[in-house]
Amino acid sequence: MSNKYRDQFIRAVDTVRDEGRYRIFRDVRRRCGDFPKATWFKDDGSENEITIWCSNDYMGMGQSPCVIEAVKQAVDRAGTGSGGTRNISGTTHYHVQLEQELAELHQKDKALLMTSGYVANEATLGVMSKILPGLHVFSDAMNHASMIAGISRARCEKTIFKHNDLEDLERALKAADPHVPKLIAFESVYSMDADIAPIKEICDLADKYNALTYCDEVHAVGMYGPRGGGIAERDGLMDRIDIIQGTLAKAFGMIGGYIAANTDIIDAVRSLASGFIFTTSLPPSTAAGALRSVKILKISPHLRTQHQERAGALRTRLTRAGYPVIGNETHIVPLMVGDPIACQGASDTLLNDYGIYAQPINFPTVPKGTERLRFTPSPFHTDAMMDELLLALEHVWHTYGLKRRRVA
Ligand SMILES: *Cc1c(COP(=O)(O)O)cnc(C)c1O
Repeated sequence: MSNKYRDQFIRAVDTVRDEGRYRIFRDVRRRCGDFPKATWFKDDGSENEITIWCSNDYMGMGQSPCVIEAVKQAVDRAGTGSGGTRNISGTTHYHVQLEQELAELHQKDKALLMTSGYVANEATLGVMSKILPGLHVFSDAMNHASMIAGISRARCEKTIFKHNDLEDLERALKAADPHVPKLIAFESVYSMDADIAPIKEICDLADKYNALTYCDEVHAVGMYGPRGGGIAERDGLMDRIDIIQGTLAKAFGMIGGYIAANTDIIDAVRSLASGFIFTTSLPPSTAAGALRSVKILKISPHLRTQHQERAGALRTRLTRAGYPVIGNETHIVPLMVGDPIACQGASDTLLNDYGIYAQPINFPTVPKGTERLRFTPSPFHTDAMMDELLLALEHVWHTYGLKRRRVA
């Protein structure tokens, strides 16, 4: 590689660094059976025991003995990889069973597995304009990068409406050509702001303007609703969403993504979406583990209650101590810092001095000036761990001169 090329790569990273958003990946090994504890492998070769406070394995299912057993059994029976794309020998019985289970979870005819939640969004939204020529997509301003990627890929007309703003959405729908096909793309739980979409009202608008609805329930499946079907299940709205998208990688503790919808939609996506067609299917053991995980969470409302209790406990303690916590309806507890350098520094200090791991969330994951620490308490984060966290934050907030509200 010539020096000129080399300089360009270096300069690209320098820009990232100057903006305080150069990413440091922490080298950790989770300790199975000791959730949320992990070992941190430091650059100097030493190891530290840490508590993870930012995992998306929200319910600890990635270490559930039953899920582990299902994965091991499938490896013993079927080996490691699936050996092909879905069309070329990669549709194993494990995939078929999991898709049936996911369809049942969301009360849809069918579900379609993909290799990740990202791919599910990108592939599905990306192919919509092929199926619906002239499509106009209405996309919430805070939608995940994978939905944005899919919508860009579709190269169709798009309008971005203000986050969770029904008036802005209606204005856009009203202004659009009444004769073109329409699709409203949104999430149920927004994981960075920890707020929830007004799903019913969005569906009402969709009915009024004859639009399809597409809802990313990635941060809700397994965690909300009587059987873990998500916010739409909790609110009795699953039948009003045309395409529900989810992940197996967060509350279900595995890897993989999916959509659930009626037979005609699934058949079209299955037949046309390149991100579904041209890639090897998930390992059978992954499908087996996910199947077990979905089945377990379906009958574990007590775990969902515990999860919400823990999140509520942390939120209450931080709020009482005057910390700028945002969002109050979900299991995610974002703590605003508002500066990328301080956010990285606070995170470094928490880890180095206290063994508390909360990754800083900086641009482009969130808008500049809204940098934050994002805590995700699980049913296994104890009061003692929260005591440690609050003590550490006290110090860190002081060190970086960060603001707290005066509390009466
Ligand atoms: C994490 C995430 C995804 C991607 O899911 P993966 O299974 O991790 O690829 C999609 N949408 C949202 C809102 C997410 O937060």
